[in-house]
Amino acid sequence: MATETNGVLQNMRQYIDIGANLTDPMFRGFYHGKQSHADDFDEVVKRAIQQGVRKMLVTGSNLTESESAMQLARLHQKLLYATVGVHPCHSLEVENNLDPAKYLQDLEDLALKGKREGTVMAFGEIGLDYARLHYAPADIQRKYFIKQLDIAERLDLPLFLHSRDCAVDFEAILVPRLPKLPKRGVVHSFTGTIEEMQSLVALGFSIGVNGCSLKTEENLEVVKAIPLDKIMLETDAPWCEIRPSHASSKFLKANNEHDELPPSVKKEKFVMGTMVRGRCEPCTISQVASVVAALKGVTLEDLCETAWKNCVTMFGFDEEL
Ligand SMILES: [Zn+2]
Repeated sequence: MATETNGVLQNMRQYIDIGANLTDPMFRGFYHGKQSHADDFDEVVKRAIQQGVRKMLVTGSNLTESESAMQLARLHQKLLYATVGVHPCHSLEVENNLDPAKYLQDLEDLALKGKREGTVMAFGEIGLDYARLHYAPADIQRKYFIKQLDIAERLDLPLFLHSRDCAVDFEAILVPRLPKLPKRGVVHSFTGTIEEMQSLVALGFSIGVNGCSLKTEENLEVVKAIPLDKIMLETDAPWCEIRPSHASSKFLKANNEHDELPPSVKKEKFVMGTMVRGRCEPCTISQVASVVAALKGVTLEDLCETAWKNCVTMFGFDEEL
């Protein structure tokens, strides 16, 4: 069994979800600014635990969200941890701030505080997203990716990186910095080509896989090629669920051992205890894991054990539960 050496939880699969956007209002019942159902955050966390999720890295995407992520980590010690950083799609927020230099200083101070108190495990989410230039133009994205890498060099935390349709610029900015970023990090929600993946792996980065990384046959070939010791699992909840139209879904039909999950209903039909259609939750990490295990030709237990080890080694999670 995968967890034989792990006394407490024999015969159970254990997951670390490295990408959980648990500060998203959807987990409080709010969609597009309007409350559609009751706050079921505690149910979401409970379902994740029941499914074997033992650690979640809550994504910080700007200063305020990073603070909220840290607050969640303080409330759920040993279960929730936070990242601190400004997502490329939020970079205009810094640019338009009355005092961008102070914003970045506050971000650095926050990350340092979190590192010291043990709530912050990574710096990010930072990077580039050329698929969504309507949120922030490329030059502004690059400006704050570079400025945040300056901070990262001082913080000495692993990076939580976002890279979408920008591989050339992404590496051009990152590679000269690597001697000062020895902890490397993870490129999460990976959707790039095999060559891009191999290049990141050669540079020492790990690759985060979620439902968005498993949409097409081409995506599946990429994931198949990720070395096992570089794979991390995530959901990117409430985004990136596996849908029936995705290439990955055929692996779920062939394998129902992960699914004791409650039914998903439209948000208008929500009653406490149901899941919500279209709102991805950390408990569905078992689906991501079964697809990845099938692609890699390993047992679910072996995949979970390896992914667990990869995350603990990089981020230094306290393995205590
Ligand atoms: Zn991302």
